[in-house]
Amino acid sequence: MAEKFKVESPNVRYLKDVIEADYNYSTNQVYEENGVTKVKPCSTKFTFRTEKKVPKLGVMLVGWGGNNGTTVTAAVLANQMGLSWMTKTGKKVANYYGSLFQSSTVCLGRGPDGEIFIPFRDLLPMVHPNDIVFDGWDISSMNLADAMKRAEVLDWQLQEQLKPFMEKLKPRPSIYIPEFIAANQEDRADHILHGTKAEQVQKIREDIQDFKRLSGVDKVIVLWTANTERFCDVIPGINDTADHLLQAIELGLEVSPSTMFAVASILEGCAYINGSPQNTFVPGAIELATRHSVFIGGDDFKSGQTKIKSVLVDFLVGAGLKTVSIVSYNHLGNNDGKNLSAPQQFRSKEISKSNVVDDMVQSNPILYGPNEKPDHCVVIKYVPYVGDSKRAMDEYSSEIMMGGTNTIVIHNTCEDSLLASPIILDLVILTELCQRITFCTEQDQDFQTFHSVLSILSFLCKAPLVPQGTPVVNALFRQRNCIENILRACLGLYPQNHMMLEYKMQ
Ligand code: NAD
Repeated sequence: MAEKFKVESPNVRYLKDVIEADYNYSTNQVYEENGVTKVKPCSTKFTFRTEKKVPKLGVMLVGWGGNNGTTVTAAVLANQMGLSWMTKTGKKVANYYGSLFQSSTVCLGRGPDGEIFIPFRDLLPMVHPNDIVFDGWDISSMNLADAMKRAEVLDWQLQEQLKPFMEKLKPRPSIYIPEFIAANQEDRADHILHGTKAEQVQKIREDIQDFKRLSGVDKVIVLWTANTERFCDVIPGINDTADHLLQAIELGLEVSPSTMFAVASILEGCAYINGSPQNTFVPGAIELATRHSVFIGGDDFKSGQTKIKSVLVDFLVGAGLKTVSIVSYNHLGNNDGKNLSAPQQFRSKEISKSNVVDDMVQSNPILYGPNEKPDHCVVIKYVPYVGDSKRAMDEYSSEIMMGGTNTIVIHNTCEDSLLASPIILDLVILTELCQRITFCTEQDQDFQTFHSVLSILSFLCKAPLVPQGTPVVNALFRQRNCIENILRACLGLYPQNHMMLEYKMQ
């Protein structure tokens, strides 16, 4: 694939199969000496290597027949075919709005006429969503055309055009352990695998191989967009190590379906992403991924309310305003809402939504004492009438100067699956790109890959999974800069510093 632009630098080499870039990574080390805080700027020389050949990517969705699964598949088909359709407000054309890579831009630098922006997707060779081949599993046997109709997300005229293509797509039968999702899901579970846990994991592995063979894709990424499960206990001897987890599956002990899918994917060498809040990645699953050098990422798509929260609180705390209370109500009427109306599944969501401002609060000891946090309450109610068009109402109260209070109230109405679908695409595209990037420092003998726990995906996740001991970043623009600056580093480009000194001189 020809580059969309070329970096002119002695530090960057465009070789036959790879782009290689030398890069000085600058950080500041802080330490205490004789009661004085000292800061030492330091720099490490890295070399990044990015394979240029973009593979044919297959994505297998767990929960393919759900609202997200059908919507993302339909959206890709509609974009592939360049479909348009009429609604009461006029003609709509298929697009990828909401996708970081397809619909946002990065600034390359300054040209003669000002700043030059390019699509984010053009920064490095990436998979285009139109080229992704989908497959997947669901506990509901409906073909994707009927499931798309059941989801009530897309306009009818678009559904009619997509029907002939969507009805040919049928999810594979899946692992169903009723106690992990709400009891109210039972009536759609007509498409399930039988046999022992070990046999079911084996069947999922065979499905991945089968899909790869039939579709001719070069690699497969598996993504969980099935119902939110209840949390599972981390139990020594069962899921605390990779070996215990594999043994627990052999013995038929408690392992959640999402963890069984993770194990099957990892053993097949396929990256696995968790789009729901539950703790799929028990310590044993993380160890297994690390052992097999397979990427895992999650948890829970960061689509609406949390995305705003991780911008708004960053703004408030960053501006020196002390946010003291955040109250978030949601009501939604899709099947996700129905599942979340059960207490244990709601609890998973509550946990994943609850820590999203921690890093911003902890960054400001002027405003917050060591154990001080804003009050933070999350409510989710199931209201069938609103369907996928979720309502989110948020109230942010902040203490301002001289005892004043600033209360901000937000009301958001939005089709949930149309927010989640571009995130699904970005997750798999970024994961695939990371599989083609290796790097080393001057001291290293060999190039290495990113850590198996792929924390660069944080921008797209509500409760980012990070390697042990790594700070969790929730602030949205720090997360976005992390992606952009790492990709820039792969081209030997400096990070965006926004100083614009060239415009500040006499
Ligand atoms: P959905 O209920 O419409 O779809 C989930 C699908 O998973 C259903 O078709 C169901 O039959 C299937 N399923 C359940 N258990 C399964 C199993 N063990 N194996 C295979 N399939 C199984 O829900 P949705 O709106 O598509 O959301 C999917 C998930 O994404 C939910 O957990 C939700 O919390 C999460 N999520 C969604 C958003 C969003 O904006 N839409 C944001 C963050 C997280």
